Amino acid sequence: MSAPPARLLERIASIVGGRLLTSAAQQQPFLTDHRALYHGRALAVAQPESAEQVAQLLALCNAERIGVVPQGGNTGYCGGATPDESGAQLLISLARLKRIRAVDPLNDSLIAEAGCVLADVQRAADEAQRFFPLSLGSQGSCQIGGNLSTNAGGVHVLRYGMMRELVLGLEVALPDGRLLSSLSRLRKDNTGYDIKSLFLGAEGTLGIITAASLKLFPRIRATASAFAAVRDPEAAVELLARLRENSAERVSSFELIPRLAVELTSRHIPGVRDPLDSPHRWYVLIELTSARARDPLDEMLSECLEPALSEGLLEDAVIARNARDRADFWKLRETIPEAQRRDGASLKHDISVPVAAIASFIERAGQWVADNVPDGRLVAYGHAGDGNLHFNINQAPGADRAAFLARGETIQRAIHDLVRQFDGSISAEHGIGRLKVGELERYAPPVELELMHTVKRALDPNGIMNPGKVLRGHP
Ligand SMILES: Cc1cc2nc3c(=O)[nH]c(=O)nc-3n(C[C@H](O)[C@H](O)[C@H](O)COP(=O)(O)OP(=O)(O)OC[C@H]3O[C@@H](n4cnc5c(N)ncnc54)[C@H](O)[C@@H]3O)c2cc1C
Repeated sequence: MSAPPARLLERIASIVGGRLLTSAAQQQPFLTDHRALYHGRALAVAQPESAEQVAQLLALCNAERIGVVPQGGNTGYCGGATPDESGAQLLISLARLKRIRAVDPLNDSLIAEAGCVLADVQRAADEAQRFFPLSLGSQGSCQIGGNLSTNAGGVHVLRYGMMRELVLGLEVALPDGRLLSSLSRLRKDNTGYDIKSLFLGAEGTLGIITAASLKLFPRIRATASAFAAVRDPEAAVELLARLRENSAERVSSFELIPRLAVELTSRHIPGVRDPLDSPHRWYVLIELTSARARDPLDEMLSECLEPALSEGLLEDAVIARNARDRADFWKLRETIPEAQRRDGASLKHDISVPVAAIASFIERAGQWVADNVPDGRLVAYGHAGDGNLHFNINQAPGADRAAFLARGETIQRAIHDLVRQFDGSISAEHGIGRLKVGELERYAPPVELELMHTVKRALDPNGIMNPGKVLRGHP
């Protein structure tokens, strides 16, 4: 560091109009990740309120070779928004960049600043009679910039795609302090490389996203939801194919839930109860949606579920009678991570395999867990419609927490090796952050990894952007 810290802090403070947190007490809420895996220290926490301020901060940090850690809602699962332990990195919180700059219903688009909370963007779309489909359990606190930088998924990917597919343009502060202003509202634009895509899923390692032009869709006016007990995961995949065919692509969510998740949420989360009368091994939460208020979605759902019941694909099912039932189904689904946390330690694997291989993956990997992790219980749930499973293993009742967690790496290695055998991904939607840097090195195709390093060197030659996240060894 070439400038003395006090002088440097003054310069940073002057860029952000004094919004700089320097005391340990002020910084404390920013320094631990959501899962409490990492506890960092920071030079300071800067709270800019405009894209220009963000760009100026980066220009200064680049000149002084100071590592920068962007932070959105801090709900990420891989420690990407937490500084390291050196106390030398500047944390930049995007929370004050929270303006919706424009809503354009006729163009079906909206421009939001990076610090907008996802739920606020959904609300702004709704007020314009439109729909913004990204939907996550953390939507009350995660931010658009974080969603873009992790390429977030969630419960509507099946129908609308991941965050990457919901973006028309970006505004990004580059590591050298230039502002890339590319807030395009165009659906068609074949003018060379798709530069914006580099920043989607980059987890703050190439620049700081300051605003985005996002796609909107027709507002949802009819919804039908069901909670169904399936014979097994294979039956779930078969049912999904039939639903998609019979409902003409109105399926917006298809979530697989194991029995243990129903038990854990019923036990630990007030207000959650099993929607069915008797226990079953596997369930799916299904949602059909339409922009047409009079679309007979309940009928479509019944027409698919009834034959599946008589053929034995399904063991039982209940269709939501009203919004309250629907909210109850979703509460069960969305609180699985919290129920797991309250129940004890858990080892998490955010993996994906081709949809058609989900059942055989669960069988093989589940058998491995049963044979090798006697002190753990499998809670494999998630966005089955996208082939994405949160293949989590919870500490069994009475098991020794420390001994269970100590085997985490060995267990992860076995699960991820199996994922590779199934042509899957070791990070379906949560990213790499700090947590999976080694796993990326192990499993990414070597040429792909080399290209990632090339891009990193080209955009951030001094390696100031989120050092040690996604890729290591920069500069
Ligand atoms: C209850 C719960 C449910 C969840 N469900 C899902 C789910 O269904 N699907 C899913 O994909 N994820 C899910 N997540 C994970 C998390 O919410 C997402 O990864 C989310 O996109 C992170 O957004 P954030 O604003 O909290 O980002 P942060 O955690 O603050 O940051 C995440 C990464 O992005 C970088 N970053 C943040 N803002 C910017 C910016 N403006 N420019 C550049 N880099 C930036 C950070 O440096 C970090 O590397 C869930 C989390 C919780 C707690």
